[in-house]
Amino acid sequence: MAITAPRMWLDGVMVATAKADLPLMAHAAQRGSLVFDVGSFHATSRGPALFRTREHVARFLRSAKLVGLDVEHDEETLVRAARDVVAATEKSDGLIRWSAFFDVAEPDLLPKTTKARVAVAAQLLEDPPRVTPLRIATFDDARKAPPESLDPAVKAAAAYLGPMIARRRAIAAGAEEIVLLDRDGHVAEAPTANAFAVVDGAIWTPPLRYVLAGITRDAVLLLAREDGIPVREEPLPLEVFSNADEAFLTATSFPVAPIGSIDGRVLTPSPGPVTRRLIERFSAIQSGGEASHEAWVMLAR
Ligand code: PMP
Repeated sequence: MAITAPRMWLDGVMVATAKADLPLMAHAAQRGSLVFDVGSFHATSRGPALFRTREHVARFLRSAKLVGLDVEHDEETLVRAARDVVAATEKSDGLIRWSAFFDVAEPDLLPKTTKARVAVAAQLLEDPPRVTPLRIATFDDARKAPPESLDPAVKAAAAYLGPMIARRRAIAAGAEEIVLLDRDGHVAEAPTANAFAVVDGAIWTPPLRYVLAGITRDAVLLLAREDGIPVREEPLPLEVFSNADEAFLTATSFPVAPIGSIDGRVLTPSPGPVTRRLIERFSAIQSGGEASHEAWVMLAR
């Protein structure tokens, strides 16, 4: 659970979060046309620092463009806004959420305006990140929307409804998280995380055709290559995933979450050695302790 910081950035002005509301008839509420991106910030010896913020802002702007939301702020302004909202909190760990949305009270499918409102907010974590391995479920009929229906690069509110219902189904079945399949029945991704298997010493994750280009996914692939671990970005059959030596999910909020079981099959040990190494490297990099990846880390102040 994360709570939103008391003040947020709204189109260039710091405002009280409690005042930043949306009309019920807004297009964003009625049609789900809000796009967002979620980054993170972490405690370092030099104060809170933001992780891969430029990549998050670039992905946010791309999402907005794909939906036809005109964002009037450039990349630099949105990076600055993120630093400002982090600097305004007293916490040194949390998430940053950029949102662009049609707030006009026009629930018609195509609103007359294309001008988006933009908000940037810090979200503060209430609980420490979980460390116990995840129980995953899959269902043959729980699939990721195909790219012909919605480009997986679009991080729009409406895109999460199907995955939300699927996660509920996984929980009802005694699991904690779902991994959705792609159109061909191979592994796609979790509702808000990319999926990985470790098989015979190689790291295996589905290609980008059906899944979001996760910024953590990208970092994991790079760190694995640096460690000399072979990387496969290829369709990942469900049998390979469920019989993997190790499996994990990646997302900004974890960033690497070990998987303990898939459809009741237990993976031991969890986290396995490859997953554990990645968790440790992320922790070192995000706390500013790895000089080789300093470019990923930006001080808030
Ligand atoms: N897939 C989906 C559908 C997501 O919403 C997210 C979270 N943004 C991810 C994967 C993981 O992406 P990232 O590592 O950039 O947080």
